[in-house]
Amino acid sequence: MAQTVLSLTDVTKRYENGTEAVRGVSLDVIEGEIFGILGPNGAGKTTTLEMIETLQTITSGTITLLGINVADDPLAVKKLIGVQPQTPGFQDKTRLSEVLELFAAAYGVKADPMKSLSEVGLADKARCFVEELSGGQRQRFSIAVALVHQPRIFFMDEPTTGLDPQARRNLWELMREVRRRGATVILTTHYMDEARLLCDRVAIMDTGKIIALDAPANLIAALLMRGFKKEQQVEEANLEDVFIDLTGKELRD
Ligand code: ADP
Repeated sequence: MAQTVLSLTDVTKRYENGTEAVRGVSLDVIEGEIFGILGPNGAGKTTTLEMIETLQTITSGTITLLGINVADDPLAVKKLIGVQPQTPGFQDKTRLSEVLELFAAAYGVKADPMKSLSEVGLADKARCFVEELSGGQRQRFSIAVALVHQPRIFFMDEPTTGLDPQARRNLWELMREVRRRGATVILTTHYMDEARLLCDRVAIMDTGKIIALDAPANLIAALLMRGFKKEQQVEEANLEDVFIDLTGKELRD
């Protein structure tokens, strides 16, 4: 039986300035799925994630994560989740292995820096300082840090924005690997090809509400059933294929 690991019931968020960012969101996330939250800028995606992550107060409604009421026990929730920050900020003068040890200690677990780093393709950088990493490496490192306590649910807010095609593909593999190891992944993205490829189910948000929620293939089928048509363009390769063909799949930095 698929287990529900996260449940939102009629959740709303009104910021102090009166903005109603989330207006009655209800959804269930199932253990082991990659769940996408899609929607235009300002739709309320980040606010929704931040309420689940205990970073924002919930104005009304209930969020339950692995049986815990998020509003009642934020500390217990923090131990069970991993959050990849949008702009990771680590102390530049600290070695990668030390950062991992620090974060592990904060969670009261034992770090295995070499294992953590090899999972994100940074095994040869253990003795490097954070400041020596390129943008893509820094991003992969932030994922290793966010996974140090083996969270049950892993949140990523626009993880592939601004990455080159190699790094994007590498990150998709990493997300699948996180899921293979038993975690549930919840992400936001503006890339519909990515959502289609990666997500088992997606919720589409607009103006603080969920306007559709299903497997990508079902949403597409439903659109076609409504009579949607577009000019057929059968493209056997696209510019991204050219790019990958010429520059290879190898991760660059
Ligand atoms: P998304 O992640 O979908 O782009 P957000 O959750 O960031 O959407 O924002 C939803 C709405 O809430 C927007 O109108 C945004 O301007 C507003 N908002 C976000 N953060 C705050 C805040 N700290 N204070 C007031 N309004 C905010």
